[in-house]
Amino acid sequence: MISAETRLCCVIGDPIKHTLSPLMHNAAFEYLGLEFIYVAFRVKADMLKKAVDGMRAFNIKGMNVTIPHKVRVMEYLDVIDEVSREIGAVNTIVNDDGVLKGFNTDGEGALKALKEGGGDPKGEKIVILGAGGAARAVSYFMAREGPSDMVIINRTVEKAVRLARCISEKIGLEVRAKRLTVQNLKDELEDAEILINCTSVGMTPNINKTLVPKGLLRSDMIVMDIVYNPVETRLLREAKERGCLTIDGVGMLVYQGAIAFEMWTGVRAPVDVMREVVVKALRRRRL
Ligand code: NAP
Repeated sequence: MISAETRLCCVIGDPIKHTLSPLMHNAAFEYLGLEFIYVAFRVKADMLKKAVDGMRAFNIKGMNVTIPHKVRVMEYLDVIDEVSREIGAVNTIVNDDGVLKGFNTDGEGALKALKEGGGDPKGEKIVILGAGGAARAVSYFMAREGPSDMVIINRTVEKAVRLARCISEKIGLEVRAKRLTVQNLKDELEDAEILINCTSVGMTPNINKTLVPKGLLRSDMIVMDIVYNPVETRLLREAKERGCLTIDGVGMLVYQGAIAFEMWTGVRAPVDVMREVVVKALRRRRL
C-alpha cells in the first residue's frame, strides 16, 4: 500500500526502459512488507544535476545510477566513499537526512557472486576481459582479494593499460594489461584459474558472440560472465561443455542491488526473492 509515509527509491539512466531494478527492489519491499517503492526515471545528461537536486527536494531515500551518469553524478554528491572514489564511479546514492552519499556496489556484488559460485580470487590467477565501467569495479575488488596474478585483456589495449596501472597504484598488486588477440588469450588462459568476462560481448541481441575460443577453456577453470541477458551466454554454455564451473551475471546484478537495498532500508535483503523475479523476467524476455 502506498501512503503518506511511503519512502521512494529510484534508478536514473538513459536509456532506462530495460532496467530490472524496479522489479527486483519492489519484489523485495513487498516480500518484507516495507513501506518503500522503487521507480525508474529516464534522465538526460543535461538534467543530471536537476535530478540530484530533485532527490534532495523530494527526500528520495535511495537512488541507483546507471549509464551514462555513473561518473559525472559524483560532482553533485556531498560524500563519496573511498572505494567509489578509487573506482571513479558511483552506482548507489543514500540520502542520509539530507546528506547525499555515493557508493559503488558493482564490484562487491561481483565478488559475492563469485564466492557464492565457489570461486575465491585469493592466491589465484585471474583474467579479466574488458576495461569499461564494469571491468573497473570488478577488477578493483578482485585485486583487493590478493590474487597471485591478474591480467586485464581488452580490445582497446590503451584502456586496459590505464586500468591496470590505476589498480596497481591503488592496491599495490602488479596488474598486467594485454591487447585482445587469440594468442594473448591462449598464453594467459593456459594457467589461469578464474576468467571473468566484463565486456558486453554475448549480450542480447548478439547472443552467438564470444571472445574466447572454446578450446582455450580448461575443465579446472572457473568462468564467470557478468552479462546477464541472456543468463547463459555462449561463453558460459561452452565453458559448461568443457567441464568448467560457471557463474552467470544474475548473481552480480542481484548482489549489487541487495547491498544498495540494505543501505537504504537497514534490513537484510531477500536475495532469493530478488533473484527469482530477475530470472523470471529474463526468461519472459527471451520468449
Ligand atoms: P562499457 O563501459 O561500455 O564497456 C564495454 C567493454 O566491452 C569494453 O571493454 C569494450 O572494449 C568491450 N567490448 C564491447 N564490444 C566489444 C567487441 N565487439 N569486441 C571486444 N570487446 C568489446 O560497458 P560496461 O558498463 O562495462 O558493461 C559491460 C557489460 O557488463 C554489459 O553487458 C553490462 O550489461 C554488463 N554489466 C552487468 C552487471 C551485472 O550486475 N551483472 C553490472 C554492470 C554491467 P573497448 O574498450 O575496446 O571498447
